[in-house]
Amino acid sequence: MTPDLSVVFPVYNEEENVPILLGEIARALDGKGWTYEIVAVDDGSSDRSLSVLRESRARYPTLRILALEKNSGQTAALDAGWRAARGRFVVSLDADLQNDPADIPAMMRKLEESASDMVIGVRVNRRDTFARRIQSKIGNGVRNWITGDKITDTGCSLKLVRREAIDRVHLFTGMHRFLPTLVRMEGYRVVEMPVNHRPRQFGVSKYGAMNRAFRGLVDCLAVRWMGKRNLRYRAREEGSS
Ligand code: UDP
Ligand code: MG
Repeated sequence: MTPDLSVVFPVYNEEENVPILLGEIARALDGKGWTYEIVAVDDGSSDRSLSVLRESRARYPTLRILALEKNSGQTAALDAGWRAARGRFVVSLDADLQNDPADIPAMMRKLEESASDMVIGVRVNRRDTFARRIQSKIGNGVRNWITGDKITDTGCSLKLVRREAIDRVHLFTGMHRFLPTLVRMEGYRVVEMPVNHRPRQFGVSKYGAMNRAFRGLVDCLAVRWMGKRNLRYRAREEGSS
């Protein structure tokens, strides 16, 4: 059975957050008229995240669990989730409760109304440290300048996309942040909408300033190259009649 929607999230040491997140997803989507599945990807957690997910299956029958053999990074975990997803649409979000599943129904409606292929969140009331917000501002500016795209908040993990569009994209480590640009490159339509953001309550952020900034720059150059070298052609088969 193909559900309307797959909800995908990567989990790396989020044991306190997982049960709350599952409850929030159910509350956001139950009885809203869409069928859905949940795809949780454990990225080699060293805490009880995987056990907590296993124990949750009885309560959330549509929950599927993928377990990566070892910690492989957020892009790898998301990629595994996206490839396993069976829904016509796929929405991804962080497992740390910073994104709010209550935004998902409005994103589904936005996708429909705007006849687009991807809806990405813009965290209007960003609940991170001042240092992190500044980093993001610079990061988004540099990224758009180099790739030639116009994405307000590419670090927002809350993203809804049509399955065909995501299936066309080949991801590389760190490139989950460029997903909207990569989807656009394949000729799909991407729109933005404001979404909620919350402070991290449990667990810790997995990133520091330096790895984010330096790797981000290298990734920008790679995406720019891909954009320039992307194959652009239309083929028409000559009919016999
Ligand atoms: N994450 C993951 N593997 C990693 C690092 C992070 O699956 O190696 C997950 C993490 O559990 C969370 C999401 O990716 O669900 C975003 O990570 P985090 O909240 O640490 O990033 P930040 O919000 O600080 O950018
Ligand atoms: Mg976070």
